[in-house]
Amino acid sequence: MIAAGVLITPVLLSPLPGFRSPLSTVVEARDGSLLGARIADDGQWRFPAPENVPEKFEKSLLTFEDSWFYYHPGINPVSILRALKNNIKAREVVSGGSTITMQVARISRGNKPRSYTEKFIEMLSALKLEILRSKKKILLLYASNAPFGGNTVGLEAAAWRYTGKSSADITWAEAAALAILPNSPALVFPGRNQARLKTRRDALLKRLFEKKYIDSLTLVLALDEPLPGEPKTLPSKAPHLTDHFFTTNRGEMIKTTIVPELQERATEILNSHQKDLEGNYIFNSACLIVDVETGNVLAYVGNSTLNDAPAHGGDVDIIHALRSTGSILKPLLYAGMQQSGDILPNTLIADVPTRFPGFSPKNFDQSYSGAVSAGSALSQSLNIPAVKMLQKYNPAKFLDLLHKTGFTTFSKSSDYYGLSLILGGGETTLWDLTGVYASLSRILNRYNNVKKYYKEDYHQPVLLSKKESNTLLTEEQNPPLSASSVWLTYEALQKVNRPESESGWQYFASSPGLAWKTGTSFGFRDGWAVGTTPKYVTGVWVGNASGEGRPGLTGITAAAPLMFDLVNLLESGTWFKPPYEDLTTIRVCNRSGFRAGPDCPETVEIQACVNGLRSEACPWHQVVHLNKSKTFQVTSECASPEDITNESWFILPPAMEYFYRKKHSEYKTLPPIAIGCSAAKNIPVMEFIYPTAGIKIFIPRDQTGELTRVIAEVVHRTPSKKIFWHLDKTYIGTTRFIHQLEIFAGSGDHVLTAVDEDGNTIRCGFTVI
Ligand SMILES: [Zn+2]
Repeated sequence: MIAAGVLITPVLLSPLPGFRSPLSTVVEARDGSLLGARIADDGQWRFPAPENVPEKFEKSLLTFEDSWFYYHPGINPVSILRALKNNIKAREVVSGGSTITMQVARISRGNKPRSYTEKFIEMLSALKLEILRSKKKILLLYASNAPFGGNTVGLEAAAWRYTGKSSADITWAEAAALAILPNSPALVFPGRNQARLKTRRDALLKRLFEKKYIDSLTLVLALDEPLPGEPKTLPSKAPHLTDHFFTTNRGEMIKTTIVPELQERATEILNSHQKDLEGNYIFNSACLIVDVETGNVLAYVGNSTLNDAPAHGGDVDIIHALRSTGSILKPLLYAGMQQSGDILPNTLIADVPTRFPGFSPKNFDQSYSGAVSAGSALSQSLNIPAVKMLQKYNPAKFLDLLHKTGFTTFSKSSDYYGLSLILGGGETTLWDLTGVYASLSRILNRYNNVKKYYKEDYHQPVLLSKKESNTLLTEEQNPPLSASSVWLTYEALQKVNRPESESGWQYFASSPGLAWKTGTSFGFRDGWAVGTTPKYVTGVWVGNASGEGRPGLTGITAAAPLMFDLVNLLESGTWFKPPYEDLTTIRVCNRSGFRAGPDCPETVEIQACVNGLRSEACPWHQVVHLNKSKTFQVTSECASPEDITNESWFILPPAMEYFYRKKHSEYKTLPPIAIGCSAAKNIPVMEFIYPTAGIKIFIPRDQTGELTRVIAEVVHRTPSKKIFWHLDKTYIGTTRFIHQLEIFAGSGDHVLTAVDEDGNTIRCGFTVI
């Protein structure tokens, strides 16, 4: 009893070997290959422990160091006695006689100089370790912490540095060489003592053969393998992603969802485009490829990795950088308005000069089409129709939609963004953007499969590889966007092509099966492109990390070509299936795209969202009264009923008509009003372009302190008619053909009146602040 106590007490009092050294941050692809790593805080390459010690290394190690590992209690009396004999003979401690367990104890004590006292403590610690830890765990502690020369610690780091592979993939020859290194530090320096290392490795391989761990052929081949050479540079396949985890998960082994081959190809393609862009002093770009079903990130290229990239902000991970959205949010507005029934897929939207206080949106090509279908406005990315649409939809409601679909970056109020939100007044990240498009594609696919929506289907991209989990899904009764609204939007986006002003657009038009959108921020600072198929979403950003704008830096010219080359890496799949159960048939006016009204002569049935049934009926077809020969407009006041012909006519409001007829030769203006007749009351002949009713105008002073001019503008269906202008009942001028007039108005409320030579009158109340 006392004897047992004498033996056990020192073991219990001895230190339990443990390791608290800082670890490297290691980022793996989804197949376990190394994407990149960052050195541990103490300057060592010490990888987090793997789950198991690979068999080849274990067999090699135990054969070389500790054949009785699985049978001894931490110390091996036979080898200790043998070592003692050798040491006495040499009059110093030359041989350890250490078991793997004792070596773990020694490494944990910082590899102190060998002495009998130290040896004794190691033995006690080893006994304690054996009592408290499994053999497997002890082996793992050794493999994770053994020194492999220089600043390489542990098998995993050693495998990557000496063989360029994970320890799970090393050969028998490599395993044998690595098993020898920890106790032969003199051998690990490349180029030195290669002969001695080879002798030892080959001897070990022969013992592995004798123990029947390997067969004769394996032995022959292994003996022929070259020795590990100089430590290799670790892979750096996703440097920005590695940096990302170095910040968020320092010292961890991260298994990501990245597909290594795709990551490498995406990086090559991005760098090759980057080279071309540098000719125009555009130095940065980023791309993200996301799997729709899972949200898994398949490729993550945070910036250019060309040699000169660091000099131009190439270290910045653009994927998480806040950048102005340009036009890239327009599809969400289109989808929201389909869902709410505010518009139908091809409802005509006004595209006329439009001014808001402090904000005058312009189309990219500075022209106006008068009226354009909502779908074309989206595919051509026209700015004025987008602003008109947002005004109708309501900016606060749109901001809410952006939040609900998964954008996290629009943190200000809708008053702050105003209508400019749809043109790039807010900022987002490539991460959020790509994630939202993936969510939309996911809910459309899901709906087609199960006819339901789930809250969990809206989520950010996923970077961490995780085992299949059966998350409980919560059914969503009122999804932010319905399957039909997303499908209609993708249909419109499939028709996106380059503006006619730019050459080579056919290159892009030949992309069936891809819904895509570009965006360009104000001042040509950011070029965006995002494209989705039912399986993948590809997001691209191009610009300067410094924020410097460059002429020609547009989504279409700079970002889209890169996006298309990336899309070509992915399998081309089928197109999205129409969500029939969520679509309804609506009869619409052929000319206006609105729900057909009683006076629309040609109608057609289309598929649209259910709320579209409540959308406005066609306001532009009206029955007009004409004389028998249809050469004049008449009214019942100036013509007898038998001389009147009623005819349905497509009549746009004056301002829309003015621009629309220039581009649409089929548009027929109304015949003139018969002499002696007055204009029909329901067909205005004039319209204010500026100011508009109720507008609040701020008139700034110029450099000389004078109030800057305000130009009022009216469109008349017959421009040759004279217009007489009055401001607050004071006559201020007459115009003809071009109805623009400079007005001077002090602070306060005003009424501007325009009267044409036939006595037709329009008024507009506005306020100067
Ligand atoms: Zn109509």
